Amino acid sequence: MGDYHVHLHNHGPYSGFGPPLGEYPRGHIESYVEHAASNGLTEVGFTEHLYRCVESVPVLGHFWENDTHDDLAAETEEFVTVDRTLSIESYVAAVVDAKDRGYPVKLGLEVDFFPDTIDAVLDFLKPYPWDFLIGAVHWIGAWAVDYPPSAHEFERRGIRQAYEDYFEVERQLAASGTVDVLAHVDVVKVHGHVLEEPPLELYAATVAAAASSGTAVEVSSAGIHKPVGEMYPAPTFLQLFGQADVPITLASDAHEPSQCGRDADVLAAAAREAGYSQHLVFDDRIATRQDLPNTNHRSWTH
Ligand SMILES: [Zn+2]
Ligand SMILES: [Zn+2]
Repeated sequence: MGDYHVHLHNHGPYSGFGPPLGEYPRGHIESYVEHAASNGLTEVGFTEHLYRCVESVPVLGHFWENDTHDDLAAETEEFVTVDRTLSIESYVAAVVDAKDRGYPVKLGLEVDFFPDTIDAVLDFLKPYPWDFLIGAVHWIGAWAVDYPPSAHEFERRGIRQAYEDYFEVERQLAASGTVDVLAHVDVVKVHGHVLEEPPLELYAATVAAAASSGTAVEVSSAGIHKPVGEMYPAPTFLQLFGQADVPITLASDAHEPSQCGRDADVLAAAAREAGYSQHLVFDDRIATRQDLPNTNHRSWTH
């Protein structure tokens, strides 16, 4: 079993913790592998953010500029400018080097999905030896849906409209077949904005799109550590994926070594509860099914 959503640098300005932004000293990747192993995992799939890489500027563009909400555009511009400190070349070289040295690591990327630029992004990504790509909707236009300083937009838009806008982009990502796995598929809930009733029709449209394009979905524990206090996808949503035979990966969304592979038993238990007995691993963008480990963890509920 592997952790298939892992970052090698934290967000924001350099905090002094870990290597400087964009640097991959010997021992850094190894420390993630060690933490994963201590959590019983045998693989680490790294998935750096595309938008954080300086080389992504020509393909992603200044995507916030076409939005009429100037406040959201300003917030995103500031956030992306601070965060865009990594190099895709250095990142790929570091992971490939660790792989060549025999470490059980996979080269992935967290691809930001914008319907208008995804084709250019895929062309840009072609030369690199990816094992897998995960796709994420972090922005609706200029709105960074999971960025706490932009959470005020939920008041302007309303929670219901925010969900409809978010899931429309997520559905397009799922239908596109451009990535191997959908990342944190209901991250719109991250700050705790939830509807009284689960939006089953929005879930169903995303599930159907993933099933028809052959895209997997990750079971991520990251949401447990956020204000919403719930994994991605929500248990009801994960059950719908299971009923449609959409395969899963397991994910921590770690941003530092100590988070790598955390909650592995919770993830496996949640997957089993939703009816899964297997998960996917990837090599060279080819998926292989593996059995979920047996777990004695108590059922996961909130
Ligand atoms: Zn993400
Ligand atoms: Zn991530």
